[in-house]
Amino acid sequence: MTSPSVPSRKLLIATRNEGKIREIRDLFHGLPFQLAFPVDQFLERLPDEGDLERGTSFAENAVAKARYFAKRGNVPTLAEDSGLEVDALEGAPGVFSARWAEMHGAGAGDAANNALLLERLAGVPDAQRTARYRCVVAYLDTPLAKPQLVEATCEGRVLTEPRGTGGFGYDPLFFSLDLEMAFAEAPLPAKQRVSHRGRAIRALVEVLVRRAG
Ligand code: IMP
Repeated sequence: MTSPSVPSRKLLIATRNEGKIREIRDLFHGLPFQLAFPVDQFLERLPDEGDLERGTSFAENAVAKARYFAKRGNVPTLAEDSGLEVDALEGAPGVFSARWAEMHGAGAGDAANNALLLERLAGVPDAQRTARYRCVVAYLDTPLAKPQLVEATCEGRVLTEPRGTGGFGYDPLFFSLDLEMAFAEAPLPAKQRVSHRGRAIRALVEVLVRRAG
């Protein structure tokens, strides 16, 4: 996918989510990009950062995050917005995945989100627990450039109880149809191979490397 003649380029990754940082670092391992995260660029969290994920689509949120950090960092920037869509819940939590429980006054964070998911799906049979993770990646060369967007999904089913200790977010409840195990049970390379984020970022890297070549 890459060639040794492609020079290493600096790329700001617009996220502070530890789970995403771990996976994105690993996805870029060995590629000709020098990753920087907001903290490496001394971009401290400002109050307006909380307004970045108020859009109604993953694409809108991803572009908002990319523009915001590209302006502050003034380097090429990649942002992603992702979430879990559950068919029996008409696509919820979707773009609200990160703060779903909080929005319903049911606590905050991954454990609260997972508890709410189990509660909302109580009594729903396996065949109707279908779900997918969706990820939209937005890349900007400069703060006002037209964004390059890539989208990917991975299909699964919501389990009736958590399994495994890996991953983050909804991974203990997400049974991957590709891997036939919960994402939280999967070794990182396996999750990366089939995940929404792995697929989207690999596709974007191909575009960037092709453009540079
Ligand atoms: P955001 O893109 O920062 O709004 O956050 C996405 C949210 O979706 C995360 O906080 C998780 O709750 C969920 N999510 C996205 N990708 C994954 C994943 O790979 N595993 C588990 N949860 C995920």
